[in-house]
Amino acid sequence: MSIATEQVKGGSFLLTPIGTMPQFTPEDFGEDAKEFARAAREFMQGEVIPLDEEIDKLNLPLTVSLMKKAGALGLLAMEIPEAYEGMDVDKRTAMLVLEEMSKQGSFAVTYSANTGIGTLPIVYFGTEAQKQAYLPKLASGEWLAAYALTEAGSGSDAMSAKSTAVLDGDHWVLNGTKMWITNAGFADIFVIFAKVDGEQFSAFLVEKTDPGVSTGAEEKKLGIKGSSTRTVILENCRIPKDRLLGEIGKGHKIAFGILNIGRFKLGVGSQGGMKRILEHAIRYTSERHQFGKAINSFGLIQQKLADMAARIFVCEALNFRTVGYIDEALSRTSWTSPTAGAEKMAAIDEYAIECSISKVWGSEALFFVADEAVQAFGGYGFSAEYPPEKALRDCRINRIFEGTNEINRLLIAGTLLKRAMKGELPLMQFGQQVAKEISDPPKPESFTGPLARLKHGVELSKRQCMLAAGLAVQVLGQKLIDNQEVMARMSDMLTEIYAMESAVIRAERMLEGGHRWAQLARDITELYVNESWHRVHGNARMLCADVVEGEALRHALAGVKAFAEFHPTSSARLRGRIASELIQRGSYPIDVA
Ligand SMILES: Cc1cc2nc3c(=O)[nH]c(=O)nc-3n(C[C@H](O)[C@H](O)[C@H](O)COP(=O)(O)OP(=O)(O)OC[C@H]3O[C@@H](n4cnc5c(N)ncnc54)[C@H](O)[C@@H]3O)c2cc1C
Repeated sequence: MSIATEQVKGGSFLLTPIGTMPQFTPEDFGEDAKEFARAAREFMQGEVIPLDEEIDKLNLPLTVSLMKKAGALGLLAMEIPEAYEGMDVDKRTAMLVLEEMSKQGSFAVTYSANTGIGTLPIVYFGTEAQKQAYLPKLASGEWLAAYALTEAGSGSDAMSAKSTAVLDGDHWVLNGTKMWITNAGFADIFVIFAKVDGEQFSAFLVEKTDPGVSTGAEEKKLGIKGSSTRTVILENCRIPKDRLLGEIGKGHKIAFGILNIGRFKLGVGSQGGMKRILEHAIRYTSERHQFGKAINSFGLIQQKLADMAARIFVCEALNFRTVGYIDEALSRTSWTSPTAGAEKMAAIDEYAIECSISKVWGSEALFFVADEAVQAFGGYGFSAEYPPEKALRDCRINRIFEGTNEINRLLIAGTLLKRAMKGELPLMQFGQQVAKEISDPPKPESFTGPLARLKHGVELSKRQCMLAAGLAVQVLGQKLIDNQEVMARMSDMLTEIYAMESAVIRAERMLEGGHRWAQLARDITELYVNESWHRVHGNARMLCADVVEGEALRHALAGVKAFAEFHPTSSARLRGRIASELIQRGSYPIDVA
């Protein structure tokens, strides 16, 4: 089974036996998608990466000219419908391209903000006239876009924005200051969120040349120094009445729906960053000698290389799984429907849990990889002359924007619980099943295939998570959502389960299909499950301790233990094998494109 053939419910991975859900894997990509990705790779390697230093001097004319070149190659048109001179490729193809476009930190942010949060609000919520007016220009790169939600006093709590819009005859008059706006230094069009009459949160399209629009100075930032970030100031900014985007008072649907898309994109973008950093680390650790040997011969350096590679493999597995579900859901919608935009947004929103998982897991994996690269380079890793220093600074933002990782953690568990309460996910039934299974937990021999043992581990993890989460629901009831640490532990368990399961299925398909790198995929997956299983186990136990104590805690821990009959293999041995493959090849060899 390569591509999702049935509509999967978002969040259902926890409740569905491993191997019984459809799953798109990177190995399922067809030649067309790979060709797009290769074109993006060629563009990045030929045009962007050689100008890395110049871009990071905040040379905005250079960035704009590179964006225009990307536009001429069709790289800005991937997600724009064909009726507006776009390519309207499926999301997975657009994501394979995005991964390549993410190999230079600042440019990645410019590209993503333009093609994602800047352009997609018009694609999904624009009127016919708005789409005709703006999308062809955005598809070609003639115009560039920005998305302005945040204000000085409202970031995570975006709905408390103070910017206002008042109707004055045939015009809206906008006032307010938007903060931290990516691409503000050169954007031709801004998606601006403001409250009509100070109350109804709504979205508007503001052009750079509209009267009353200006931008502040460039922010001085920790990283992505080549990406333009400014305030956008609206002083009695007058725009025609028909520049309202969507409906009055429904701006939150645009703001949060678009951020949700930004989340899986950010997960995919992380892959591009990780691959570039690992390449540097493999090269440097083979060239650097200490104690008479290349440092890549030391176990603790090999550990770093192997852990980096594992994160890349798992990140791809979980992100493309999510994108596969989204594409499948989108294929059930059509641009010919009068409510196409709303239907498409609903299709993507179904996977809000998985999108937040992509964002949190991807951004933290990328930060881990960059941090380990700094360490592997030693003192040179701390020097601005070597790549890891910049990589670490550049990727730090990923844990902050598109909803901070704290907010996304609250969303992962919160959305799952909300859907269970509404009866959309049979969480309670699964809880009852798990309670019964305490006396007869799943056995290894119930699982088949080359990775049967790992599948058993994943299923045990699901039960530990369910037991602990069920206990929290039972004890805390409605108060659970206010207990953020408990919610975060639940989210971390869900995230690890999704990551492990996605990797196991991907690796198993590679093994069954005789893929060239199947053995490496097996080692990576086994390593990841070894480590991740124990994180879930630890979180399940700690979560129980957060909600009960004494005899009740002893009882709860005994329940978790009933599902703990999973024995790790030697991570050191696996890491040694993975690292030697990386060192021998000189790169991460499982290339999708
Ligand atoms: C380089 C850069 C580019 C950006 N680009 C854009 C852009 O193009 N468009 C745009 O609109 N915005 C943009 N942003 C803004 C970004 O989205 C916000 O910074 C982000 O949403 C966080 O908001 P904040 O900075 O106000 O932090 P706050 O919301 O004040 O959060 C501060 C801390 O408190 C935590 N926190 C907040 N609320 C809760 C809660 N309920 N529970 C638990 N913890 C909580 C947060 O997780 C965080 O750790 C950008 C920011 C940066 C730095």
